[in-house]
Amino acid sequence: MKTIGIIGGMSYESSIHYYQRINDQVNARAGGLTCAELIIYNVNFGVIREHMLNGRWDEIGTELSRIAKVLEDAGADCVAIATNTMHKLADRVQSNIGVPLIHIADCVAAKCKAAGVSKVALLGTRYTMEQNFLSDRLRANGLEVAVPARAEQIAEIDRVIFDELCKGEVKDSSRDYFLSVIAEMEKDFGIGGVILGCTEIEMLIKQKDLSLPVFDTTQAHIDSLVDIALK
Ligand code: GLU
Repeated sequence: MKTIGIIGGMSYESSIHYYQRINDQVNARAGGLTCAELIIYNVNFGVIREHMLNGRWDEIGTELSRIAKVLEDAGADCVAIATNTMHKLADRVQSNIGVPLIHIADCVAAKCKAAGVSKVALLGTRYTMEQNFLSDRLRANGLEVAVPARAEQIAEIDRVIFDELCKGEVKDSSRDYFLSVIAEMEKDFGIGGVILGCTEIEMLIKQKDLSLPVFDTTQAHIDSLVDIALK
């Protein structure tokens, strides 16, 4: 079995799902008492968040690159960054290690393509929605990508992620808000699916809440990591 290295803790509410489901899925496929060979480096997200708010991305890049190397040196055959936003630094992290970085956007794009969906809404943190690091990677995978049109929508989605979901709070009022943004995007952009482009949004929005297909980056990433582990 291959050993999976995970940079987690951003937030730990979503990293828990990586740990639980990678083990569950490896066990379901391999049987017996088999579980995954995993190395998780859980960062202190409080420190990282301060860097984010102060625009200190260089410090975050240095730290995530260092951690990726720690995982490689500990025996990881690949590394996953368990957050969409930190894929802003994916190229830098990959350049510091000799094993593959499993890019979350490639994993979710493969799910969209398999479902025959080519035009998607991308919801995530303000960094993920306003900057191009994730949407360009999705476009490179052949997808058309739309983000919420209005600044107040981006601000409110970002607030819900950091003030509620990253603290494990799931509120009906926030779900209703996300669904209203998605409904507006369906009308305005003719999207054929929704990418939950933040590893906590799946706690709030489930497939049953929408008639459009939902593509969850957390689960897509996990599915790819399980495939790699068992290859
Ligand atoms: N987990 C979130 C994501 O997937 C946000 C936390 C972060 O900024 O890393 O983007």
